[in-house]
Amino acid sequence: MIQAAAPALPTPVPAPLPLREILPWAVFVGLLAVIALYFVSTEQGAVALFADNYVHEFTHDGRHLLAFPCH
Ligand SMILES: [Zn+2]
Repeated sequence: MIQAAAPALPTPVPAPLPLREILPWAVFVGLLAVIALYFVSTEQGAVALFADNYVHEFTHDGRHLLAFPCH
């Protein structure tokens, strides 16, 4: 018994990444990540921009989760 060859499937072609469109969003998301990292790691630890311990208490679990020294 001779098997017929399978029909050729079209080869998927990856779409090119539009770097000029992605770059501003990548910079924006990176900036947001740095700001979030600052509030989790440093705010009301080494530096305090806001009074009281509201930011510290709000980010306290994240601080321990990311292994930043806290207390
Ligand atoms: Zn702590």
